[in-house]
Amino acid sequence: MVAIVRPVRIESPQRLRDTEKTRTGFLCASVVNISLALAIESNQTMPARILDGTKIASDIRSEVAAEAKTMAAAGIRPGLAVILVGHNPASEVYVRGKVKACEQVGLYSEQHTPPETSTTADLLALVEELNARDEIDGILVQLPLPPQVDSKKILMAVDPAKDVDGFHPLNVGFLSTQRPGLVPCTPAGVIEILKRSQIPIAGQEAVVVGRSDIVGKPAAMLLLNANATVTVCHSKTRDLWAVSRRADILVAAIGRAGMITRDFVKPGATVIDVGMNQVTDPAEFQRLFGGGLAGGSAANAKREAAFRAKGSTLVGDVHPDVAEVAGALTPVPGGVGPLTIAMLMYNTVKAAKMRRGSGQWSVASGQ
Ligand code: NDP
Repeated sequence: MVAIVRPVRIESPQRLRDTEKTRTGFLCASVVNISLALAIESNQTMPARILDGTKIASDIRSEVAAEAKTMAAAGIRPGLAVILVGHNPASEVYVRGKVKACEQVGLYSEQHTPPETSTTADLLALVEELNARDEIDGILVQLPLPPQVDSKKILMAVDPAKDVDGFHPLNVGFLSTQRPGLVPCTPAGVIEILKRSQIPIAGQEAVVVGRSDIVGKPAAMLLLNANATVTVCHSKTRDLWAVSRRADILVAAIGRAGMITRDFVKPGATVIDVGMNQVTDPAEFQRLFGGGLAGGSAANAKREAAFRAKGSTLVGDVHPDVAEVAGALTPVPGGVGPLTIAMLMYNTVKAAKMRRGSGQWSVASGQ
């Protein structure tokens, strides 16, 4: 162990390489290298750069609103239809958020709320009706559907040109063959965070933990399309921590609160936390955040106060301690979550343009 005085701000190895590329002075590069060596030797930890998903989502919404305004001047108002079956409180919250977001960016939206007892045939009829309406550009079927409904059949029935969730097999095929199509919102949001935070993807080692059709697989495909070297992990992966630790970019889409601990993360890696888990157990809160409940650090005092008041808190799949080793990290809340709705707006406008034969897509994302 050595005691050090930091001569400069110490960057992650990744950012260090980038810094070195852009700096011309040998002296600067040498000082940075010395700092890194000292930091590694002393086991010093650095707080990760926090990637602000709320800000990035807000930028995308502004771009989509500008696009919608241009289209409105040409007499086109992109429209989204959301189907919400029955009364699932969580789904109702999501749908309200989606409808409100449409209003904010100037899109038309409508909500369909068939009863909990709806059959597959009922919902197929509704989807067909929406497929046929020209003013509807996007159709979103809020999942989960009631157990008596054949969800796959319903998702297959959505016109691929209006499939703003990007779940239709045709859009899955377009994604894997790098053709223009509609890309699932959450994984598309992951890529937006990386690109807009100037985190290089090409040539990087990316590990995606989770292989769902909704998040893990499309996230892996998007990273591959952006020229990363991609590994996909799941519940049967051996030595998950060792595989994860290879990652320059680690995407966690698991659904297990704080499962990715600092041992899974290479120092300096970029960690994207897709997970959204409600923690209600005080012992679990204590494992993740310490604080007064643990009789320890009060660093998470604000979250702890909210937890005490509400009885729950939203937590990602990445343990908060990872901020001490990662080079960059998305927070929960305020990371990937806000991007999902922003990308839904993006997809609705994109669908409206593609359906009208305009391959031109001027919003910065350009996927
Ligand atoms: P799924 O349950 O569909 O998939 C979870 C994946 O994680 C599976 O592939 C599973 O492996 C893998 N997994 C589970 N346990 C382990 C383990 N112990 N080790 C390694 N892999 C494991 O979840 P989703 O993909 O739908 O969602 C993942 C997370 O992302 C959830 O927290 C969800 O709430 C969140 N989410 C957030 C969104 C947002 O807007 N921010 C949007 C969508 C989801 P296997 O395939 O072998 O079972």
